[in-house]
Amino acid sequence: MQISGKRAIVTGSTSGIGLGIAKELALAGAEVVLNSFSDTDEDHAIASKLAEETGATVRYISADMSKPAECRALVEKAGGCDILINNAGIQHVARIEEFPGEKWDAIIAINMSSAFHTTAAALPGMYQKGWGRVINIASAHGLTASPYKSAYVAAKHGVVGLTKVTALEAAGKGVTCNAICPGYVLTPIVENQIPDQMKTHNMDRETVIKEVMLSRQPSGEFATVEQMGGTAVFLCSDAAAQITGTTISVDGGWTAL
Ligand code: NAD
Repeated sequence: MQISGKRAIVTGSTSGIGLGIAKELALAGAEVVLNSFSDTDEDHAIASKLAEETGATVRYISADMSKPAECRALVEKAGGCDILINNAGIQHVARIEEFPGEKWDAIIAINMSSAFHTTAAALPGMYQKGWGRVINIASAHGLTASPYKSAYVAAKHGVVGLTKVTALEAAGKGVTCNAICPGYVLTPIVENQIPDQMKTHNMDRETVIKEVMLSRQPSGEFATVEQMGGTAVFLCSDAAAQITGTTISVDGGWTAL
């Protein structure tokens, strides 16, 4: 398998999609670097547990993806990488008139600008080896919009644009760049939106899930972190060597509507 022995950095990977992708990459033979902004025993324990479960070498490196210098330092501390998964992300839901400026800045920094800084730090090593994969975790919200998610939708559309530019600059150098666009996946970022949506819509939990969230997803089912991981592993394979500069939707048909 093409991925065996490659080093993968997954930003924002102590939970949810990032951890799911890290696990699939580890199972496929990659050495994995997990990341989040904190530096606790719990963070390092997540890495030890993943190493035990998969038999892979797994390290945890703390770096705050809202800070450009820490994004670049993450790549340096890891010793470079062959596979870069830009996954860290946060969410805030409010009308534009009420959207706090500092939340806008944080979402743009973590969900979009961090991908620019890590990519800039990782590309030279990939070019040197003549092989690399940059995979940006965008969203169905990188292709379509929803009300009350101005910063998130702007950041994710920006990530899709960055994906195309990275692909063009890397073309012919053995390095590809693509974006995975998940629909709803039941992770902490989604769990945390449910209470607010219950209040906004005056609905119970099950009704919010069915009528607000999954109403956008024709399959009527959440996508899973394992499916995101499987898609990432595919993008690292030889079969995907000519897939670059594009988006792969894993959204139960959301963007086909
Ligand atoms: P999550 O909240 O489970 O995971 C987010 C991860 O990012 C966590 O590990 C968190 O610690 C980390 N993180 C947050 N701020 C950080 C910072 N400043 N520096 C470093 N790490 C930081 O959420 P998730 O659902 O797994 O989301 C992962 C990515 O997938 C995000 O980019 C999100 O926008 C995207 N996404 C999620 C869904 C979904 O339905 N869950 C859908 C589309 C796209």
